Amino acid sequence: MIQLFLPLNFLGFVYREIRRALTDLENMLGLLTRKPLISDKANAQQLNIQHADIEFKNVNFGYHPSRPIIKQLSFSIKAGSKVAVVGASGAGKSTLARLLYRFYDIDSGEIHIDGQQLTSVTLNSLRQAIAIVPQDTVLFNTSIRDNIAYGRPDATAQEIDNAINMAHLRSFIDSLDKGDQTLVGERGLKVSGGEKQRIAIARAILKRSPIIIFDEATSALDSHSEQAILKAMSALASNHTSLVIAHRLSTITDADTIIVLKEGQLIEQGKHDELLKFNGEYARMWELQQKTA
Ligand code: ADP
Ligand code: MG
Repeated sequence: MIQLFLPLNFLGFVYREIRRALTDLENMLGLLTRKPLISDKANAQQLNIQHADIEFKNVNFGYHPSRPIIKQLSFSIKAGSKVAVVGASGAGKSTLARLLYRFYDIDSGEIHIDGQQLTSVTLNSLRQAIAIVPQDTVLFNTSIRDNIAYGRPDATAQEIDNAINMAHLRSFIDSLDKGDQTLVGERGLKVSGGEKQRIAIARAILKRSPIIIFDEATSALDSHSEQAILKAMSALASNHTSLVIAHRLSTITDADTIIVLKEGQLIEQGKHDELLKFNGEYARMWELQQKTA
């Protein structure tokens, strides 16, 4: 019995060793395809914002080397203007926002803010300069007011109230029993997608960054929510350079320029009326949304 046990036990040992070696190999190969962590260069400078002009020059990027997502993309956003990015789901719109915030480094090309390349400035100064209103806003299990104040922890009471008004949250908050002290989350208040976005807008207003990225919610909003968001957005966008990723084209007809992305490439660019006249992809998307609205 013991004679049989020993070799079997040994086989088990060999098997586990092979398994471990394979797992190590897998991990190693996995590491090779993963992007290196983003960090400051040794000689990184503070981003010096003069006007907040943004420029993408021949930008290429993929999450994995084998699959390019953004291809030879070039466009610029003049200081104080509003650029909208539209395109089908998966076209790379949110990826653009992530690249500007430098969640990832690009594979080739350049991204500049006021002539300074993103990779040459400190992450901290870059991210101070940009406020993101994300597609899915995360709310914490605290009061609505604390959720808003999170945009800038040292904001004064008056600044917070002002942000609540500008983000068109006042009537919503006044309708709650405990007003802005109402708890959000698990056992507290349920907040709709539109209200969440306005909370994110209030945070961004508090942050006072010269550049705003707005990644509009995909979920269908009723027209009342849409109007409130539109008003909140324009309050936020005035005097800012803004990049608005739009799923509902009705929210960006006033943009200074609209970029149409398809599979990571810029295929059309212009103002709403120009793009309708051009009668291409944008015009087709517009027509489709008019029908389903
Ligand atoms: P959009 O916002 O236009 O819907 P995204 O920029 O989110 O598109 O995504 C563009 C493409 O990149 C999609 O094919 C998506 O599957 C892929 N992608 C997005 N995020 C990641 C990620 N973290 N890792 C790998 N692929 C991703
Ligand atoms: Mg997206």
